[in-house]
Amino acid sequence: MRWPGRMVSIREEGILDIGGRRIPYLMSTHRQARRIKLIISGDGTLRITVPPRMGRDIPLQFVNAHQGWIDQAFAKRDARKHIALPPDAPSKKHYSIARSIVLEKIQYFNEYYNHPHTSVRIKDIRTKWGSCSSKGNLNFNYKLQFLPTHLIDYIIVHELCHLKEMNHGKNFWNLVVQCIPDAVARKKELLRTQVY
Ligand SMILES: [Zn+2]
Repeated sequence: MRWPGRMVSIREEGILDIGGRRIPYLMSTHRQARRIKLIISGDGTLRITVPPRMGRDIPLQFVNAHQGWIDQAFAKRDARKHIALPPDAPSKKHYSIARSIVLEKIQYFNEYYNHPHTSVRIKDIRTKWGSCSSKGNLNFNYKLQFLPTHLIDYIIVHELCHLKEMNHGKNFWNLVVQCIPDAVARKKELLRTQVY
């Protein structure tokens, strides 16, 4: 199908057999695409974006030549960890549990850092675990209570260090690793972990 003026038109969808794995795919042309692009979407569909006026054989050959990349992309996706939210979340109870965890850990780690802060708020933030404003207000996602302790510790220390260093520069990480020596590994683990 082709609509004049549209950037994307869907050309074909189906199932491919790649290295013994049956993978649903969706091939579409994009007016501005210069080359073939592969993406594994959240639902496990292989999205193949193709420049205009390219037949279907070249993209399918391209997919076959990139089996290794596709396997790796799926392995990464499978390594993600999902933590299920309780069905009644967020409730008052969840906010107060989050608050007591956060306050207790701030007290603990700030005995070391001693960075002054103005307020601590628990919020339902969609994309962040925590944030720190230039005025010293700390915000934390109520969902952090469902994470393993070592990741909660990392989130708290990360924001506490922003009270001193408002960036992710070398000085910032030097501060973080004083309390969390494996901060980089925890950061990566946190990126792979989703709570919903
Ligand atoms: Zn940060």
